[in-house]
Amino acid sequence: MSEVAEKVKCLIIGSGPSGYTAAIYAARANMKPVLYQGMQPGGQLTTTNEVENFPGYPEGVTGPEMMIQLEAQAKRFNTDIRSGWVTKVDFSGTVLKAWIEDKKEIHADTVIISTGASAKYLGLPSEQHYLKLGGGVSACAVCDGFFYRNQETVIVGAGDSACEEAHYLSNICKKVTMLVRRDEFRASKIMADRVKNTPNIEILFNTETEEIIGENDLVTGVKVKNSVTGEQKIIPCTGFFVAIGHQPNTEIFKPFIDMDEVGYIKNIPGTSKTNIPGVFVAGDAADKNYRQAITAAGTGCMAALDAERYLAIKE
Ligand code: NDP
Repeated sequence: MSEVAEKVKCLIIGSGPSGYTAAIYAARANMKPVLYQGMQPGGQLTTTNEVENFPGYPEGVTGPEMMIQLEAQAKRFNTDIRSGWVTKVDFSGTVLKAWIEDKKEIHADTVIISTGASAKYLGLPSEQHYLKLGGGVSACAVCDGFFYRNQETVIVGAGDSACEEAHYLSNICKKVTMLVRRDEFRASKIMADRVKNTPNIEILFNTETEEIIGENDLVTGVKVKNSVTGEQKIIPCTGFFVAIGHQPNTEIFKPFIDMDEVGYIKNIPGTSKTNIPGVFVAGDAADKNYRQAITAAGTGCMAALDAERYLAIKE
């Protein structure tokens, strides 16, 4: 541990749209925010290709480009943006403490948690290959479904997210094939029934994904295997969607912050406040329902305003 802790008014942990938006508002309110970018500067959007649904970009923008612009906007108002990873916090006392890479110690008057969530992937080498190329693998139907309009897509997963996303895709795509690894859905009955009753969704139960097939850097199909019969086949498609859950990046806050059983932080409804005074949450770390860049940015704004009001009352 370092000998002297650095004192800051507002510590922002994470650099997705929620963190940068919180930084823009906090900096303009003269809170001199210090933002630590974390392991994946720019967050989940840096793994997205084209963003067409963020208001203000009529021609669309790539995810990485948008994050560069958000960072530049936060810097314009003198946000202190640092590369580094918050490895530990202690919110048990009156001083909010955080450690960067277990060494540098920070004492903050306010903390904004904007650490996001990570989509889970199957982990197949071919899946990761096409994901990195941006050519046909996605974990967000609302973000990327539009690129597959009138085409055939495959989605893996059997929870509420998979059902919601399959239904969303069915309104855009010619055909959606849903791969369910067991012989039943995990999703609520109403969500599963909606998928079952949609004519252009085909559901394959007991089906495992073996490989994503492609040509010239673009996906052309998915090789699957029936776990009961052993039958293998290739399903032609141009898009492969993964909807097997998300993991909020909130592990280090667990001893202090109230969360649900998965790890999503519980905010006081209608605010960004957590159970700890002075600690606020923004973005996907508290949101398992919307998970959009625009909603993350909106809650980033809320967190900065809540932090500013908290400081005003305290001071
Ligand atoms: P869940 O954890 O509920 O479901 C994940 C699904 O992915 C399961 O069906 C699981 O299969 C499957 N899966 C996991 N790993 C693999 C794998 N390696 N190969 C194939 N399939 C796999 O996650 P969700 O994101 O769907 O939902 C998270 C929470 O959010 C839930 O509480 C849900 O109810 C809620 N939610 C609610 C919505 C709404 O009400 N509108 C919308 C979206 C989410 P298996 O069943 O075999 O374990």
